[in-house]
Amino acid sequence: MNHLNSEQVDKLLRGAAPNSPVYLLGAGGCGMSGLGHLLLDLGHRVMGSDLVLNEEIRQLRARGAEIHLGHTDGQIKAAFPVLLVYSSAIRSDNPELAMAEQLRIPIVRRAVLLAALVRRQRSLCVAGMHGKTTTTALLAFALEMLNTRPSYAIGALVPQFAHHARFRRESGASSHLFFAVEADESDGTLREFHPDCAIILNVDEEHLDYYANLEAVCQEFEIFARQTSGSLIFCADDARLTELFARHPGAVSYGFHPLAKYRLEPKNIGETGSLFANRRWARFEVWHGGERLGEFNIQLLGEKNLSNACAVIALLHQLGFGPSEIARAIGAFTGVVRRQQEIFCDSRFRLIDDYGHHPAEIQATIEALKRLPHRRLLVAFQPHRFTRTHYLLNQFTTCFASADRLWVTEVYAASEAEIAGINGQKLAEAIRARGQAVEWIPTLAELRVAVRAAILPGDLVLFLGAGDITRAAHELAAELSKESMLPKEQLLAHFSENLSADSLIRADEPLAKRTTLRVGGRADFYAEPASEADLAKIVNFCAEKHLRFIILGRGSNLLIRDGGVRGMVICLARPWFTRLEVQGERLHCGAGAKLKIAAVEARRHGLAGLEFLEGIPGSIGGALRMNAGAMGSWMFEAVESIRFMDYFGNVHERKASEVYVEYRGCPLFKDHVALGAVLKGQTASPEVIAERMNRYSAKRWDTQPAAPSAGCIFKNPKTIPAGKLIEELGLKGTRVGGAVVSDVHGNFIINQGGATAGDVLNLISIIKLRAKEARNIELETEVEILGDELS
Ligand code: FAD
Repeated sequence: MNHLNSEQVDKLLRGAAPNSPVYLLGAGGCGMSGLGHLLLDLGHRVMGSDLVLNEEIRQLRARGAEIHLGHTDGQIKAAFPVLLVYSSAIRSDNPELAMAEQLRIPIVRRAVLLAALVRRQRSLCVAGMHGKTTTTALLAFALEMLNTRPSYAIGALVPQFAHHARFRRESGASSHLFFAVEADESDGTLREFHPDCAIILNVDEEHLDYYANLEAVCQEFEIFARQTSGSLIFCADDARLTELFARHPGAVSYGFHPLAKYRLEPKNIGETGSLFANRRWARFEVWHGGERLGEFNIQLLGEKNLSNACAVIALLHQLGFGPSEIARAIGAFTGVVRRQQEIFCDSRFRLIDDYGHHPAEIQATIEALKRLPHRRLLVAFQPHRFTRTHYLLNQFTTCFASADRLWVTEVYAASEAEIAGINGQKLAEAIRARGQAVEWIPTLAELRVAVRAAILPGDLVLFLGAGDITRAAHELAAELSKESMLPKEQLLAHFSENLSADSLIRADEPLAKRTTLRVGGRADFYAEPASEADLAKIVNFCAEKHLRFIILGRGSNLLIRDGGVRGMVICLARPWFTRLEVQGERLHCGAGAKLKIAAVEARRHGLAGLEFLEGIPGSIGGALRMNAGAMGSWMFEAVESIRFMDYFGNVHERKASEVYVEYRGCPLFKDHVALGAVLKGQTASPEVIAERMNRYSAKRWDTQPAAPSAGCIFKNPKTIPAGKLIEELGLKGTRVGGAVVSDVHGNFIINQGGATAGDVLNLISIIKLRAKEARNIELETEVEILGDELS
C-alpha cells in the first residue's frame, strides 16, 4: 500500500493545494468524523463515504464536507484525493481502498493522520482500555474552561461541545496550544503518538482480535510511554501499570492507592433532590505528596470516574494550574454521549444509554449506577463483536451479577465474520449456567417490547453495548416521553405558580407574528421570563420534564414550519432583558434589546463603531448567536464580554476574546442562552455617527426589499454571492403561493401576503435544485429552519 508515517502526512498536508480533498473512508465513525472536523478547521476540503447516515455525517455535511453514502471506486476516481484515510472498520477488500491503491494515492490509517495533526501542538494524550473517551472529554472541557483555547479529538459526541474534535489555529506568539487527544490502542496505533504528556488509565485483556495476548497489549503501551517526553500520569491502582511505568522519568501516579502521588479520597456521592432528581455529583479530596490539594466535585458517577477525574487533576496540576481553578473547570462537565447518558427520566422510570462492551466496563457501570436511587436495576445487553464474545465469554458470565433483571441480544458483528458456535444465545446460556436469570431476546425490536412490558415504577434501565442497541434505548425513551407528557393545563399551572407575576407564560402561541417572514405555526408553550431567576426556573423545569425549548429573538433569521414548535419557545422580551446603558465607551446590553435601538442609543451618547447594527432587524441575543454582520463589520468585533446561562440555569461571564466565533455563527449559543453583552465603541460626535447610519440605511433601502422576509435565505457559496447566482439563474420573481423571490435582491424570499412556511420551503427547494443542476453548487440555508411539518 502507499502508506506514509505521521511526519510525511504532516508535510503532505502542509504542501497540499487548498482545493485538493482529503478522503475519509468510513467517515461516520466517531474517530473518523473527528478527523473531518480537524481538517475542516485547518481549511482542508473534506470528502468521504460511509454506509449509513448518522449524526456525525450530518454534522460534517453541515460544515461543507462532501460525504457519500455507499462505497464505490468511482467516487475515488472522481475525487482524486491528496490523501485517503481509512478507519479500522474498513475491510481490506473495500473497492475505494483498492482504487486508491491503483491510483497510487497515499493511504493512511486514522491514527496516523491524527498523530500528524497532534504533533503540531502540545499533545496531551489519554490512553487506556476503559474510560478514555470521558477522560479526554473532561480534560478538553477543563482546558476550555481554563481559557487555554485547546484543540481536541474525542471519540464520542460531547453535548457541551459543538463538535467532538476541534483544531485551534495558533495566533501570533501563542505557539503552545494544548491538544487533548484520545489515543486508541485497538489496532496497534498507539505507537504513532509522541505525546508531550500522557495519561494511562488501565490495561486489560481487550482487542484480542488484534493482539496475540495481554503481553502484546502491554508492549504497545510501553512503546507509547517511552515516546512520552513529559509527565506520564498512570493509575496506581492498576498493579500492571505500576510495574510497567513507575520507573519512567516523568512518572506521576494517581488513584485510591495509599502510595499514589495524587491520592483521592471520596467524600460523598449522590444526587441533589430525591428519587429521580436530575443532577448527579460526587465529591472527593485529592492529596498531593501528603498535602491536601483541595476538594473537587464532578457530575459523573462511580469510582472509575472519580479515579479518571483524579488523573485529569494530576495532569492539570503538573501543567501549572491551581487547585481551585481546576475544581471550577471540572465541576461543570456533564459527560459524553452514550457514557452513562441519561436519555429519559420522569417520576416513574429512568433510562441510561451506555457504550460499555467489555466485562470490566460493564461491571464498573453497573456498580456506579447502583448508587442512583432505584427499586430494580434492569439491564439490556447487546454483545459487540464475535471475537470479544468468544475470548471473554467467561468474564461476561459474572459481570452482570448485580443486575436485578437481564436481557441479552444477538451479537453486533461490527464488520466481523461470524465465529461458529459463538452467539448471544450461547452467552445467555453461559450466564444462566452460573446461576443468574437471563432472557435471550434476539432482535432489538423484541427487546424494546420486552423491556417496556417489564418495567415498573422506580426501575432504572440500563442499555449496554457499543453496537446499535442505542436505537432501541432511544425508541423506548421516545415512547415513554409520549406517555409522560403532562396535560398542557398542568404544565401551565406549574409555571404560573412558580414564576413571578411579571413573567408571561402561554400555551398555543401563534409564532407567525413573532417572525419577520410572518409564517409558521404555533408553539405548545411560549414564555417571556421577567428575570434571570425565572429564566433559570423555566430551563430547569424543561430539563426535568424533557420538554424541548428554543430561544426566540426577534425572529428575523427564522423560518418556522407550519406545524409549529413542540415544546417551549422562550423570548427575552421583558424589560430586564431589553435594557441598554452607556458607561463611558461601553454599551451594556440585555440580550433582548433590539439592534436598531442599541445603535440609536450609542449614537445618542456619541459612541461610534456600532452603526452597522442599525438596519439588522434582530436582537442582541440573536446577533450574538449568528455573529450578525453588515457593512464590513460583525458583532464579535464590537463585543467585549458576554453573559450567558447554561442549560442547568447557571450564569457565566466570559471575555469575547475567549469565545470561538465563525462566519455567521457563535457555536457556544447553540446550547447556552445569551443574557447580555458589553459592546465597546469609540467616542465620536453624534453628527458623524448619524451621517454614517443614514448612509448605511440608504444603502439598505436601495438593495433590499421592504416586504416581510427573513433576510438572506442562503449563505454565500465560496465562488459567487448567492443573490447574484439566483439572479443569473433567472429565478428572480419565481413564486410558490404567497412566497416570491424578490426582484430587488435574489437572496431574499418575500411574503407577498398569505404565504405559508410550506410555500417558502418549496421555493427554497426549487432554488437549491436549480443551483445544483445548472452550476453544481450546493446552496446552504443561512436562515434557521425550525419546528414540525404540518401533520
Ligand atoms: P432569531 O431569528 O430570533 O434567532 C436566530 C437564532 O438565534 C436562533 O437559533 C435563536 O435560537 C438564537 N437566539 C436568539 N436569541 C438568543 C439568545 N438570547 N441566546 C441564544 N440564542 C439566541 N443578518 C446579518 O447578519 N446581517 C444583515 O445585514 C442582515 N440583514 C437582515 C435584513 C432583513 C430584512 C432581515 C429580515 C434579516 C436580516 N439579517 C441579517 C438576519 C437577522 O436579522 C440576524 O441574523 C439577527 O442577528 C437575528 O436576530 P434575532 O434576534 O431576530 O434572532
